[in-house]
Amino acid sequence: MQPNADHSHPGDIAPDTLVVSAGRPPRVTDQPVNHPIVLTSTYFGAVAPEEGERVYGRYSNPTWDPLEEALGQLERAALPGLVYASGMAAVASAMSLAPAGAVLVIPRHSYNGSLSLVQDLIVRTGLEVRLADIEDTEATLSLLDGADMLWLESPTNPMLEVADLRALAAGARAAGALTVVDNTFSTPLLQRPLELGADVVVHSATKYIGGHSDVVLGAVVTSDPQLRASLQRHRTLHGAIAGPFEAWLTLRGLRTMALRIDRSSASAAELARRLADHPAIESVRYPGLPGDPGHARAAAQMDGFGSILAVCVAGGAEAAERMLTALRLWTPATSLGGVESLAERRRRHASEPESVPENLVRLSVGIENVEDLWNDLRRALDALAPGPAA
Ligand SMILES: *Cc1c(COP(=O)(O)O)cnc(C)c1O
Repeated sequence: MQPNADHSHPGDIAPDTLVVSAGRPPRVTDQPVNHPIVLTSTYFGAVAPEEGERVYGRYSNPTWDPLEEALGQLERAALPGLVYASGMAAVASAMSLAPAGAVLVIPRHSYNGSLSLVQDLIVRTGLEVRLADIEDTEATLSLLDGADMLWLESPTNPMLEVADLRALAAGARAAGALTVVDNTFSTPLLQRPLELGADVVVHSATKYIGGHSDVVLGAVVTSDPQLRASLQRHRTLHGAIAGPFEAWLTLRGLRTMALRIDRSSASAAELARRLADHPAIESVRYPGLPGDPGHARAAAQMDGFGSILAVCVAGGAEAAERMLTALRLWTPATSLGGVESLAERRRRHASEPESVPENLVRLSVGIENVEDLWNDLRRALDALAPGPAA
């Protein structure tokens, strides 16, 4: 963990400045303004390891430090974050904070990798799982009795359901459960779960933080020194470490995250309005739409609505697939949060919960011109439902 002089007052600096200014090297004349990539498996001076020594490349790498510093500051945490080999490595590390045989409350529409991992943990560690409809705060609170961990995503992937994070984190605290929030969809620019009462925040930095669909990396952030020490120990012993090049690329991506999210969120809001009026679309879920079930909650706890939409295509899975095949500019591919717009029918994955509609297409809006994005979508949708075009 690198001490950083800036860490005591990041609260004074706006998040869209922090993405640029956090994690910079000290200002030394003639020295670079960016940290270098450090490639090493070991460090001089490991004869008698003292606390603070780096010792070995699986324990620490100087290329992780500025990214961890920046992520900690962005989440308004008291400590730097921890970076991992992937979002799932971060998820697994955070879930390891629940003891063997623990009771875990988790949204029924969580990221399917998290749900699959939970299925493994049920078999291997006796984890008891309670699936929650997180749009129903009272029902979710009622599952917390005897729980050890409340796992949250908000908005959920891919249903875009919004949880009342403050109420649920308070309920979990009262029940003696840790609250972990997977903040991948929102990023710390739009939502800071630690400020809303969560104990731990998880990210797939593969998505918005990296932002260019060219790196896989994860992160965990907490303000609790004991939790951080447990997470770091888990990372070291499981070897779930980020490569230095991946850490460097992710910090480079982070520098433009505010611009990317501003642009893609504005386009997402426009596309959500237009899609809602298209006859080939049954329904649109986007928290930024005033009629969306999550709108009021998202407006209260987020600084924007993000750039993921879920649309249900009239005519079922087959029509949804035909629409995807007809797209020329949008890329039919999994993942999200990159500069390029991606579209995917989520139920093509066998691991996706069956309560996710077969005809649901998740749209990750990128930074292209919004009219080009709309024209491509409209052309593909018009071909499904000929008639008066929107
Ligand atoms: C992609 C994703 C993950 C997993 O991250 P990887 O980097 O792919 O391992 C976890 N949670 C959410 C919400 C995601 O979208």
